Amino acid sequence: MNVPFVDLYAQYLTIKADIDGAIADVIRQSAFIRSKHVTDFESQWANTVGVRHCVSCANGTDAIYIVMRGLGLKPGDEVITTAHSWISTSETITQAGGRVVFCDTDRETFTIDPKQIESKITPRTVGIIPVHLYGQPADMDPILEIAAKRGLWVIEDCAQAHLAEYKGRQVGTMGTAATFSFYPGKNLGAMGDAGCLVTNDSKLASWSELYARHGGKGEHTIEGINSRLDGLHAAILSAKLPHLRGWTAERQRIAARYDELFAKVPGVERPAIAAGRTHVFHLYVIRVKDRNGLQKHLNSRGVSTMLNYPRALPFYPAYSYLGHTPADFPVASDHQDRILSLPIYPEMTDEMIRYVVECVAEHQAR
Ligand SMILES: *Cc1c(COP(=O)(O)O)cnc(C)c1O
Repeated sequence: MNVPFVDLYAQYLTIKADIDGAIADVIRQSAFIRSKHVTDFESQWANTVGVRHCVSCANGTDAIYIVMRGLGLKPGDEVITTAHSWISTSETITQAGGRVVFCDTDRETFTIDPKQIESKITPRTVGIIPVHLYGQPADMDPILEIAAKRGLWVIEDCAQAHLAEYKGRQVGTMGTAATFSFYPGKNLGAMGDAGCLVTNDSKLASWSELYARHGGKGEHTIEGINSRLDGLHAAILSAKLPHLRGWTAERQRIAARYDELFAKVPGVERPAIAAGRTHVFHLYVIRVKDRNGLQKHLNSRGVSTMLNYPRALPFYPAYSYLGHTPADFPVASDHQDRILSLPIYPEMTDEMIRYVVECVAEHQAR
């Protein structure tokens, strides 16, 4: 059997008529740029998240960058973020003119460890970017408390966590602003790059919109950038949006099934869900001792896996200038060698889930 890591074509087939209709509609109206499809999706997404403003942009990376520019990041300003994420979270800090300050993660949830944030704060610190990694919210209450006490802003990186909740609050509603990615493989994905920022701050929203659209049309009040959501992607996202809750429930059901089956497999640490949080399982990440051996075995049995991510951020060459050692981030550096992401997507069959677990069990029994 072959189990792909994700199967976007299988998802397309389940809603083919809606997607084809949405695409045809955009083409018929030549509504490729800044069309009603875009503003419609923006208001649908703001409603879904439960925030006042959604500003769409070209991808989830731009969204983080745009928000930081909007928050007035100045050269030398320090921004604290997690040692364990996709590089978008930290590279945008540098692009926006700031300095990256990494913080270690929590052993169970892989998200930023709030207990260590205070020790990273200096007079130059201006903000914190927690990431709701793999689909589970970061521990927001202590993060927001530190931010309020120290006058820092908070940007939630929600790229992997559409609809996830922390103590009854949806991700994207808690920080100063939040960013989403609609990269094809994300829980809600376009058919190309797409993203947005959301916020209840009207000023930040209107500045961000201006900045992302060349600083204004006709009258350029500032110099901006070109970061737009294409009409085609907006229409595709609107067609997919009604399915997001159902797809999320499917991801959660598959994760629960994996959990149940892995309970009997020795040496497999299953993902933990912290009290008061929901997990939307963008990724199902296990921890094992011989991760590379297991990945090789699964590959030989037709099961695709991923490393999210092969290294903790501070240990990539891009950050060698910071001179970090594993002792600076004991949890993230331990996780980088033991994590393995298994296939999880709504269209997976029970036969596939059982096959994946069976192949893992074969390796663990060796
Ligand atoms: C995917 C992702 C992003 C960026 O999204 P793009 O749309 O690919 O630019 C940012 N942060 C995290 C944690 C992500 O997983």
